[in-house]
Amino acid sequence: MAGGAGYVTVIGLEVHAQLLTRTKMFCRCPAAFGEEPNTMVCPVCLGLPGALPSVNREAVSMAVRLGLALGCVIERESAFARKNYFYPDAPRNYQISMYDRPLCTGGSLVFEDEGTEVNVRLERIHLEDDAGKLLHGRGGHSLIDFNRCGVPLAEIVTRPEIHSPRQASLFLRRLRQMLRYLEICDGNLEEGSMRVDVNVSLRRTGDDALGTRTEIKNLNSFKAVEAGLEVEIKRQRDELESGGTIVQVTSLWDAREKKLVTMRSKERAHDYRYFPEPDLPLLIIGEGWIEEERAKIPELPLDRERRFRREYGLPAYDAGVLTAESDIADYYEETANLTGEPKTSANWVMRDVLRELKSTGGDIGGFPAGPAALAGLIDLVKGGVVSNSAGADVFAAMIESGESAADAVKRLGLECISEVNELEEIVDRVLESKPDEVERYHRGKKQLMKFFVGQVMKESGGKADPLIVSGILRRKLGE
Ligand code: ADP
Ligand code: MG
Ligand code: ZN
Repeated sequence: MAGGAGYVTVIGLEVHAQLLTRTKMFCRCPAAFGEEPNTMVCPVCLGLPGALPSVNREAVSMAVRLGLALGCVIERESAFARKNYFYPDAPRNYQISMYDRPLCTGGSLVFEDEGTEVNVRLERIHLEDDAGKLLHGRGGHSLIDFNRCGVPLAEIVTRPEIHSPRQASLFLRRLRQMLRYLEICDGNLEEGSMRVDVNVSLRRTGDDALGTRTEIKNLNSFKAVEAGLEVEIKRQRDELESGGTIVQVTSLWDAREKKLVTMRSKERAHDYRYFPEPDLPLLIIGEGWIEEERAKIPELPLDRERRFRREYGLPAYDAGVLTAESDIADYYEETANLTGEPKTSANWVMRDVLRELKSTGGDIGGFPAGPAALAGLIDLVKGGVVSNSAGADVFAAMIESGESAADAVKRLGLECISEVNELEEIVDRVLESKPDEVERYHRGKKQLMKFFVGQVMKESGGKADPLIVSGILRRKLGE
C-alpha cells in the first residue's frame, strides 16, 4: 500500500459542506455569496449579547437527506453544543456545532478504485455554523467579512479507513457528486463551499494500533489532497524509519510551493470546553419528517451508473462519464430515448457536447442544442442524410445558431452525396490529377489510400461518406 514497505497508510477525512439554504443556520440573514462585505448580518450571527438563535429547518432537512443517502442512522434526538475558541473570525467566541449527540451516525460511501469496490464507513454527520472570512494583507491590514458567519455547514467525518491518497481523492469525488445530486451543496473546493481536512498516520504492517496522526488543512482541490498526502506520508515514513516519533500537528498545504507549513500543535476536545448549547432545545426529528426527506432523494450516482450500464448497455467508462453530473445524465437519457440509439447517443454527448461545455465553461442548462436537437442530428446521420464527419460541422452550426439539425444541414448544403455516380466522377477527377501518387500507390505505398480519401472528401466539400468513398477508390485502383 501507499505507506511503502512495512507500513499501512491510514487516512480519515473531515469534510465541511456549505449547505445551499436560502438563509443562515441560526438567523434569517441570506446565506448569499459574493455580496458587499458585512451587509448580510444581524445581531444573531454577529453574536451580539442577548441575541437568540433558532434552527433553520431547511438545513436540517438537507442534512437528513444526506444522512439517508449515505445510509446513516438519523438520530431522533440530537443536540447542539458550544465549541469555544477565540479568534477574530468568530464574533460569539464560540461556534455552535454538535458534539456528543450528532444528527447522523454510521453510514458509508462506496466508490471504485481501479475496478475494486471500496466501502468507507462514516463516523457521523453533524450540523454547525460557519465562521467569518479573514482577508489578510489588504493595504497592510487584516480585514474581516462577517457575511459568512452563520452559514450552515454539514460536517461529514469518516472513520480512519482510507488507505491511499488516490482513495482519498476518489472518496471526495464521489462525495462531491453525491452532494450535487442531492442539490444540497455546490461542492466547489476552490471557492471553499466544500472544505476538506485530512488526517493521516502510518501503522506498521501487522500492528493493530493506529499510529499518531497529523492533520492537513487548506486543501482546495482534489490534486492538492493527493499531493499534500503524498508529501506528508513520505515525511512520516522517513521520520519513523530513522527511529523518530510523529508529533500530532496541524499543517497547511501550500499549493504553490508544494509543501506543508506547520500551523499549530493539535488542539484537543477539552481545549474547546464543549458544553450543550443552552439557547437551543434538543433537535427532535419525527418519523414523518424523515419519510418526507427520503421521498425527495433522487436516484443516486452509483445506482444511476449501474442502470445506465444495464439498461443502455453502456461500457463502464461511458456510464461513469455520463452520470458524473445529474443534469448531463438527464440530457443523455432524453437523447438516447428519442433516438433509440444509446451507444451512438453516448458518443455524441461525450465527444461533442461535453467537449463544447468544457471549452466554453458553460453548463448544460444553457446549452443551445437540447436533447431533441441532438437527437435530430443523430437521426440524420443514421439515415445517411449527413455523413458522420459532416455531422460534426452540423453540430457546430447548431450550437452557433440554435437552429435544428435539418435547418443547419440545408443552410450549409451538407446533405450527403451518396449518389454513387456523382462520387465516382469526383474520384475519377482526383485520380487523374494525381498520377504520381497513383503510381506510387501501385508500387506498394498503400498508405496513400488515406490521402486519396482526404482529397475526395475535400472535393466533395465534406459531404461524402468516407466509407463509400474508400470503397469506390479501392475498386477504381483495381483491388
Ligand atoms: P477530532 O475531533 O479531534 O478532529 P476525531 O477522532 O473525531 O478527532 O477524528 C477526526 C478524523 O481523524 C476522523 O476522520 C478520523 O477518521 C481521523 N483519524 C482518527 N485517528 C486517526 C489516525 N490514527 N490516523 C488517521 N486518521 C485518523
Ligand atoms: Mg478535526
Ligand atoms: Zn444573521
